[in-house]
Amino acid sequence: MLSFWEKRSFINYDYIVIGAGITGLSVACELMEKNAQASVLVLERGLLPTGASTKNAGFACIGSLSENLHDKSVMGEKTLLDLVQSRHTGLQILRNRLGDEGMGYDACGGYEVILDGEDQSFVSQMDEMNALLYPLFNKNVFSLCNDKIKEFGFSRHASQLIYNYLEGSIDSGKMINSLWLHAQKLGVKILTGAEVKSIEENKDAVEIAVNGISFKAQKIFICTNAFTKSLLPHIELNPGRGQVLVTKPIPNLKVKGTFFFDEGYYYFKNFENRIVFGGGRNLDFEGENTTNFGSNQKIIEQLQTYLKDLILPDTHFEIEHTWSGIMAFSDNKLPLVEALSERQFIGVRLNGMGVALGSKIAKDLVDLAK
Ligand SMILES: Cc1cc2nc3c(=O)[nH]c(=O)nc-3n(C[C@H](O)[C@H](O)[C@H](O)COP(=O)(O)OP(=O)(O)OC[C@H]3O[C@@H](n4cnc5c(N)ncnc54)[C@H](O)[C@@H]3O)c2cc1C
Repeated sequence: MLSFWEKRSFINYDYIVIGAGITGLSVACELMEKNAQASVLVLERGLLPTGASTKNAGFACIGSLSENLHDKSVMGEKTLLDLVQSRHTGLQILRNRLGDEGMGYDACGGYEVILDGEDQSFVSQMDEMNALLYPLFNKNVFSLCNDKIKEFGFSRHASQLIYNYLEGSIDSGKMINSLWLHAQKLGVKILTGAEVKSIEENKDAVEIAVNGISFKAQKIFICTNAFTKSLLPHIELNPGRGQVLVTKPIPNLKVKGTFFFDEGYYYFKNFENRIVFGGGRNLDFEGENTTNFGSNQKIIEQLQTYLKDLILPDTHFEIEHTWSGIMAFSDNKLPLVEALSERQFIGVRLNGMGVALGSKIAKDLVDLAK
């Protein structure tokens, strides 16, 4: 039973945020930055954030050429432009909030690797995509740089390279750690091991049940991404697990930057003198359509094969560690940012692009709740 003191000091808040990934922590920061007197509680079910934000490979993505072309065909030009702009703005918000050092940001640029035997016809649409994005950046975003294939030491399976100067790399652990400390410095209270089991709105407040305690807030923000259906089963999203590996340090590593291939289904980068490599969900969509963390041996083996045959053809390497994280996808490839009522707001379904997008979604969500 709660004490008189606990009831007075721990239960009532202006705002409660559910989920301490990049979206939830950014919402908490936005709320405090707008009103330093506000009381904000973040509830996180894991002891650490346990979704995608600390499990990804740390790419600050604006979108590769083939992804943007694909997205344009799904959502149309105007929506694609809004989405690209939102990713860019989100990344600027995050960099301003934490500083580049605080998130291990490296503006290294990104490269789309086109493999031999792959349909390369989309490369002819590069000028068209550059023209479409030009009004946003006053510069061509994509350029061919095939001369770099040799410099990076890729095998002959790499047939073309398309450079995107907007892409960058972050240290995902450092970024969330800094965001967490920043939120606390602003006065946000964060409780971990606090799984929200139910949400009930009445005319005075929203009540949130956690471990037999009922917290109350004037407004709440649901930032639970892939795990949202356990609270709100009607929300339309599909979980997608992603596999990632990291090699042991490799002396004289030639690979520098962030890289994508196979329409972005595979992604790798150097982190210091290691390779971080993830993806391959398209090898087993069904098996990876899950909110359970775990290893998929078939995918890990394919990642190792690509390391040997494409990325590090003449170099000895060893895998140091593998892990997985869970993303949330939708057919329209758009995030869900909505008011569910006057007191409840939801920002989920980041479609595997939340590093850049998360801070912008947080801003939009807080603006919606004004
Ligand atoms: C392998 C992998 C690679 C990726 N690569 C990239 C990339 O290259 N570029 C990019 O931009 N993005 C990438 N992403 C996606 C990016 O990481 C996500 O879009 C982003 O982290 C989502 O942030 P979030 O805060 O919305 O969700 P999450 O980080 O998943 O946070 C949700 C939090 O809510 C908590 N939670 C859930 N249910 C409850 C509950 N009932 N009560 C309390 N807490 C709860 C979870 O424990 C979790 O900590 C990748 C993701 C993965 C997994």
